[in-house]
Amino acid sequence: MELRQDPELETFRQEVRAFIQAVLPPEMQERQRRKVANNAAVSDMLDWMRILDSHGRSVPHWPVEFGGCGWSPMQLFIFNEELYKADAPEFDWGGTHMLGPVLYTYGSDYLKDRFLPIIRTGATMWAQGFSEPGSGSDLASLRTSAELVDGRYVVNGQKIWTSGAAYADWGFFLVRTDKTVKPQRGISFLIIKMDTPGITVREIPQINGDAHLCEVFLDNVEVPADQLIGDPGMGWTYAKFLLEHERTTSSFIYWSKRELARAKDIARGEQLNGRPVADDPAIRARFARIEADLLALEWSVLRVLAHEEFDVPEAAAASVLKIRGSELQQEVTMLQCDLLGAKALRFFEVAPTPPPPATDNWPDYVPGRTTVALINRAATIYGGSKQIQKNIVAKLAFGL
Ligand SMILES: Cc1cc2nc3c(=O)[nH]c(=O)nc-3n(C[C@H](O)[C@H](O)[C@H](O)COP(=O)(O)OP(=O)(O)OC[C@H]3O[C@@H](n4cnc5c(N)ncnc54)[C@H](O)[C@@H]3O)c2cc1C
Repeated sequence: MELRQDPELETFRQEVRAFIQAVLPPEMQERQRRKVANNAAVSDMLDWMRILDSHGRSVPHWPVEFGGCGWSPMQLFIFNEELYKADAPEFDWGGTHMLGPVLYTYGSDYLKDRFLPIIRTGATMWAQGFSEPGSGSDLASLRTSAELVDGRYVVNGQKIWTSGAAYADWGFFLVRTDKTVKPQRGISFLIIKMDTPGITVREIPQINGDAHLCEVFLDNVEVPADQLIGDPGMGWTYAKFLLEHERTTSSFIYWSKRELARAKDIARGEQLNGRPVADDPAIRARFARIEADLLALEWSVLRVLAHEEFDVPEAAAASVLKIRGSELQQEVTMLQCDLLGAKALRFFEVAPTPPPPATDNWPDYVPGRTTVALINRAATIYGGSKQIQKNIVAKLAFGL
């Protein structure tokens, strides 16, 4: 089934497609298509940001005054979809999609002038320092403290699961600046340079062979007070704004659509009892169900992006999208592994070792499928676990 969009948007899609084809370096596209890890290499991510920025398109979702494109939600959706379809490197999500909107909404002019340009131009990588041992779902209980001493915050504590902290230039952290008030009221939002003395980053080996997640230890780390975003004690409000934003985008619909297309390549390329796996009726039924679910999710995302009236608050809708989006990511990647059968058992090193050259037995689509499926088990955890999203829906949508 194909639900057609209006002709102007189709024209916009063609323009975007031509633009990407013209500016995306083929070797970068090839690396991205054949990569084993979940994300592109940092150098590709930042180089791609620079290329997009030189055409004014690295942060199209930001307000025009800060470098955005002034596009409608539908145009943004199409742009993102075409980037994924074309195997363009991912954005530095932390800077462009998490911190950026918090900064231009709540940051001082000084912070906006200092940080928005270096995010927009791909000059920096960013890490999100929220979770702590014992404070993940119950984030308001976080204990990392920041004490104001002579115009500087002195930060002490530990963060965990900090994605990309080992190669991030900067981080945005939730810290406790007041222990005397109720937990949510004592939290502030602080920008910290990752090479500040007193910071130790330790990588956590993952099941897929990657080490993207980290522990971050902060020991008397001195941070200029003007790196605190907005007002002290308002960090919880800013974090909720960020997380709701993250959940709407973390439906990862574009990603899942591209991976479903890849699953179809696998089904056509692999054999079962001497015939393409794609001919198997049970497999076809599985494809049909996932495709229908993805289509339903896509139109739900579009309704949220169009700010259509819902009979539930938008934050509850964002949680529903996060739940379904993460479940479908897992279903698509598990389908890929099932289609590969025994081939899914071979271990391919995550970067920097490139996957071996393709052969008839080991086509291009094999390396990376299992590593990505394994790390996707985390999709129902990061950004707020599935159970926590269900709690949010129960509270906001049903008043329970
Ligand atoms: C791949 C990955 C990347 C991440 N990246 C980052 C990052 O960059 N920055 C960052 O700050 N954090 C990051 N995280 C951390 C993530 O936000 C937390 O893992 C998540 O919020 C869950 O917290 P927790 O791990 O402490 O689990 P816990 O909170 O201990 O939860 C354990 C289990 O109990 C359940 N549970 C807890 N409370 C309730 C409740 N009230 N009702 C029902 N069930 C409940 C949870 O759903 C979960 O199943 C990342 C995590 C992963 C896996």
